[in-house]
Amino acid sequence: MSDSFDVVVIGAGPAGYPAAIRAGQNKLTVACVDEWKNSDGSAAFGGTCLNAGCIPSKALLESSELFQRAKDEFAVHGIVVGDVKLDLAAMQKRRASIVKTMTNGIMALFRANGVTGIHGHGRLLPGNRVQVTGPDGSERTLQARHVVLASGSSPVRLRAVPHDGVRIVDSWNALEFDAVPRRLGVIGAGVIGLELGSVWRRLGSEVTVLEALEQFLPMVDQTIAKEAQRHFKKQGLDIKLGAKVSSAEVKGDGVEVRYSDAAGDHALQVDKLVVAVGRRPFTDELLAEGTGVLLDDRGFIQVDEHCRTNAPDVWAVGDAVRGPMLAHKGKEEGVMVADLIAGHFGEVNYKVIPSVVYTAPEIAWVGQTEEQVKAGGRAYKVGTFPFAASGRARAMEAAQGMAKIVSAVDDDEVLGVHVIGPMAGELIAEAVLAMEYSASTEDLQRTIHAHPTLSEALHEAALAADKKAIDAINR
Ligand code: FAD
Ligand code: AMP
Repeated sequence: MSDSFDVVVIGAGPAGYPAAIRAGQNKLTVACVDEWKNSDGSAAFGGTCLNAGCIPSKALLESSELFQRAKDEFAVHGIVVGDVKLDLAAMQKRRASIVKTMTNGIMALFRANGVTGIHGHGRLLPGNRVQVTGPDGSERTLQARHVVLASGSSPVRLRAVPHDGVRIVDSWNALEFDAVPRRLGVIGAGVIGLELGSVWRRLGSEVTVLEALEQFLPMVDQTIAKEAQRHFKKQGLDIKLGAKVSSAEVKGDGVEVRYSDAAGDHALQVDKLVVAVGRRPFTDELLAEGTGVLLDDRGFIQVDEHCRTNAPDVWAVGDAVRGPMLAHKGKEEGVMVADLIAGHFGEVNYKVIPSVVYTAPEIAWVGQTEEQVKAGGRAYKVGTFPFAASGRARAMEAAQGMAKIVSAVDDDEVLGVHVIGPMAGELIAEAVLAMEYSASTEDLQRTIHAHPTLSEALHEAALAADKKAIDAINR
């Protein structure tokens, strides 16, 4: 096998593997080096997202929601199922098998696109060489015209909350529990904390979420965040805001968590504690002396808007660089870079990146929140439509939440779209496309939406922005 490539990608997560595939499609010779090891020691491509993030979490969110609906909701439909029982081992087997199928799929995609996949640790040396240390300790050096760094991120740990992987765990461990903890503590009410808290709550845990900030989901439009908080409370998620965790200690079979809030100091006893306080860029052992690649003060690899680092022909994409830590953001960066290397056009529109929280109801948004638009000073109008008025949502027994659109008064431009409700993550795609094409609110108003569908909520919200909603009272 030749050790010289047009492109060497370090990392095969959702930023690195698409870069490698697109490079192959662009007829460049390409290798993708990845060191991921699963808990059973096996190697796999796909990075955090496929192995320990997006995919396994969505598998468990789906299963746990079905379990909860079978228990609490089927009767409303007139379906009598008797005693609904949980087989967690089967649920976890399904999760693992989905992950395996998806990660094997990357190997097949590599083969189909002429990508050489290499398991091992990659380290950038000066002169665009990449030293690869295999799982068996063997070493080889690849020469590359271009190197793409896609080393991803790792969970932030709190010094006073010592991780042991059994009682005090991270998000990856929390996806692989083999029993439902009776009492689960979660530190951090971010996206990951809320999704994991939801899974285990639905499966029977008493869940307490401790969040240092006073405001719930500060990055989300606050109309939507307030609605979400109400639903999560009803579901039994005990979310304590303004609760700063100072320490945690394993005591016997459980964990004692100490935190303080406006009322004083508290101790909470749980059986498992998940630390979900964010992720940090992962660049350990990635850069040898003299590569010229710089990190910023928060440890992200410094890049320009086209993901070029300070070193010539070295690029960096995904969670390891600035911007939201989302799989689809990394994917677009990877594809852009592989196109730019091949001399093609490439660009990422950072203003139009959707975000989704896969709770029930789901939360999704794109563009600016109402608070951001207000702070910017531009005159704006708001249209909302409740799913309670959607025939399809009613038929689905999922009539909670709303769609909300924020638009400019001067030229009618759509500035932000926010949805909490059934399939919000799917519905937001229409808003993303609209904003990508700089659609006006009137464009959405004049677009025919099939009836009865959930997508009509976006149509009606756009109409409501001009007080022209048909299926809801205009206020
Ligand atoms: P990663 O996926 O972290 O991949 C980096 C890869 O590089 C890894 O395989 C790593 O082993 C390898 N690597 C690192 N350094 C080296 C080296 N020196 N040599 C060789 N290999 C190396 N995002 C979403 O968009 N939607 C979701 O629903 C979602 N859910 C999530 C749920 C959880 C529980 C978590 C933890 C994350 C979730 N995310 C989600 C975030 C998403 O997983 C990340 O944004 C995404 O994985 C980043 O992709 P990446 O390719 O930059 O890095
Ligand atoms: P995210 O970065 O979206 O994954 O969210 C992580 C959340 O954890 C943020 O909302 C932080 O405010 C919160 N957080 C960080 N440290 C602590 C702490 N010591 N106690 C409670 N919450 C914390």
